[in-house]
Amino acid sequence: MKIFEEIESEVQSYARAFPRVFNRAQGEYLYDEDGTQYLDFLAGAGTLNYGHNNPFFKEKLLDYISEDGITHGLDMHTKAKGEFLEAFNEKILKPRSMEYVMQFTGPTGTNAVEAALKLARNIKGRENIISFTNGFHGVSLGALAATGNSHHRGASGVSLNGTTRMPYDGYLGDDFDTTAYLDKVLSDSSSGVDAPAAVIVETVQGEGGINAASFEWLRNLEAVCRKHDMLLIVDDIQAGCGRTGTYFSFEEIGIKPDIVTLSKSLGGYGLPFAVVLIKPDLDQWKPGEHNGTFRGNNFAFVTAKAAIDHYWSDDAFSKEIKRKGEYVSQRLESIVADHGDGNFTTRGRGMFQGINCVNGELAGAITRQAFKQGMIIETSGAEDHVVKFLCPLIISDENLKRGLDIVEQAILETCARETPIPEEVDFFEEPRKTA
Ligand SMILES: *Cc1c(COP(=O)(O)O)cnc(C)c1O
Repeated sequence: MKIFEEIESEVQSYARAFPRVFNRAQGEYLYDEDGTQYLDFLAGAGTLNYGHNNPFFKEKLLDYISEDGITHGLDMHTKAKGEFLEAFNEKILKPRSMEYVMQFTGPTGTNAVEAALKLARNIKGRENIISFTNGFHGVSLGALAATGNSHHRGASGVSLNGTTRMPYDGYLGDDFDTTAYLDKVLSDSSSGVDAPAAVIVETVQGEGGINAASFEWLRNLEAVCRKHDMLLIVDDIQAGCGRTGTYFSFEEIGIKPDIVTLSKSLGGYGLPFAVVLIKPDLDQWKPGEHNGTFRGNNFAFVTAKAAIDHYWSDDAFSKEIKRKGEYVSQRLESIVADHGDGNFTTRGRGMFQGINCVNGELAGAITRQAFKQGMIIETSGAEDHVVKFLCPLIISDENLKRGLDIVEQAILETCARETPIPEEVDFFEEPRKTA
């Protein structure tokens, strides 16, 4: 369709990797306007953990709309919001013995991060925030300052201040615990690192290349936070909502973050929605200090509550994710053992895993080859060198196997070629029509 070339900005990104016009989706499938079916292993970059147009949520949403439920209400109390808060408190927080108050921000992840950083700085009266190499926290200026990626940072046009970068787990090799370095510079008044208000961290770095921090490293990080009187902010926007096998990515680690950001799959239906969870004694906001016209999305309250009721009322879903995650681990281990001349490695945990292909061109060629076979899968990492598996958590066992088979075959074919497939390859010589 020419209209996209004519008037849509050059800023497009995913659209370039998957140059089709999509118009329908269900579960783990996307369909383009010609009816061609694609297996979705990108899932809105982790926004569609429960699949596209999840039928359980759709029914609730349609009922709500047909009853003229509130669509927009600023931050006013609505029945939908109250019911979401109740479900979240009863089924997510209380069973995990967690006590947090909930702030509704503008509906994007980056806005939740902005709010979290602001609050931490105000509480501690300090500007500096510790963030990590390869961390991704969003692209508005405050969150961007905490983000590592030079491509995104380069677009800011202003200096990105108020953060100090520290090496993430594994950055300096497997034998070096980088929290010891953080502790060292914070203990040395002449290290040049200003006393921070907080640390912001992803337990598994999504955009940064599916780097999973070890549990020990995260526990040590928490200890350093306590020792130096700084807040621990876990950005669970991509790793949360079940992706690693538990609702929060950190709940089996035993750490207790002061502040947690959630978005992406929180709304359940792919609807924009973001929150900040704050330990009650740290909720030092004054009314309206951080506001926004779209604070809390009432449609998303309805679908987020439905997601909690349907998937998180007991531990069956968590067990299912862990079982599937183990299957992915096994398959990826065997794929890297059999292909890539011993250069490929696996990374991540739960249903948040990837293959490090070392070379970005190669990883891109593999995902392009998979697309040719009707699969949507993306790369991440500094050089886009990691093929990341982010399929909906509700995917059928059969399709999970099929997706992994397609990638394995794509790796086989790509590695067998002398030069990777050029980007302008003619896709779908033989389109596979379905539906
Ligand atoms: C996606 C993401 C964000 C930013 O969310 P947006 O909705 O894109 O602003 C922040 N942190 C993490 C960990 C993310 O994956």
